[in-house]
Amino acid sequence: MTLTAQDRKDAAEHAQRRWDFHRQRGTVDQIVADDMDGMEAIRRGLLGEYECQHVFGSTVDVELRAGGDGGQDFFLHLRVADHPVRFRVDVKTSSFEGDRDLTWLLVRKHKIEKQVIYIHGQYISKSDDVELQGWAWGVELIRRNEIRVLTSKGIENYSMPVTECRSIDELLARIVYVPTPEEVEARRGFVGEDRGHLVHYCHCGKWGFHGHEVDTRKGKLGVWFCGEHKPAD
Ligand SMILES: [Zn+2]
Repeated sequence: MTLTAQDRKDAAEHAQRRWDFHRQRGTVDQIVADDMDGMEAIRRGLLGEYECQHVFGSTVDVELRAGGDGGQDFFLHLRVADHPVRFRVDVKTSSFEGDRDLTWLLVRKHKIEKQVIYIHGQYISKSDDVELQGWAWGVELIRRNEIRVLTSKGIENYSMPVTECRSIDELLARIVYVPTPEEVEARRGFVGEDRGHLVHYCHCGKWGFHGHEVDTRKGKLGVWFCGEHKPAD
């Protein structure tokens, strides 16, 4: 656990701002847990996000979310079939500090997305820290179909015991380095060898999935395009 005093200060300030934002819009009811003050719930969630930034370091991509409450979205690039693919990460910080066997990763049923990485963050009240304890793909939670209702509001959650989640080490091992803007610039349209691997990028700097006029046996490396820039046939 690596949270700093500055993280805690930022989390408290942001929580206040988000709380006010939701209160003004009348959306507070969606975020308040039964047994916890709403603003505190937001603050703990933010600590989970900050912990994520520490654990994944420069490999995490952070974007401001539309909506005006200062919320952020996180992304990691994972290697899938030998290509880096960007996935959204959602940290679910839990304040239940009981038996580990009774601790679940929980994702609201009506909000779950198949290709999102859901991470269980455990809030630890003694030290005001969050420990990342495991993760699962949205699609794994949906397939498991173990529904839990943990509050009086009757909100349904997909669940998985933390003991059955994938390990954070597995996630760290699968993360692909995220390039800096300068590196993206250098990659534009590059097709060739990089540290012993054949790499092929689109003219925009993203990974090229679609190769044209490629015949590697004849040394023809072709031109490559990302999904967005693939020319129509
Ligand atoms: Zn492109």
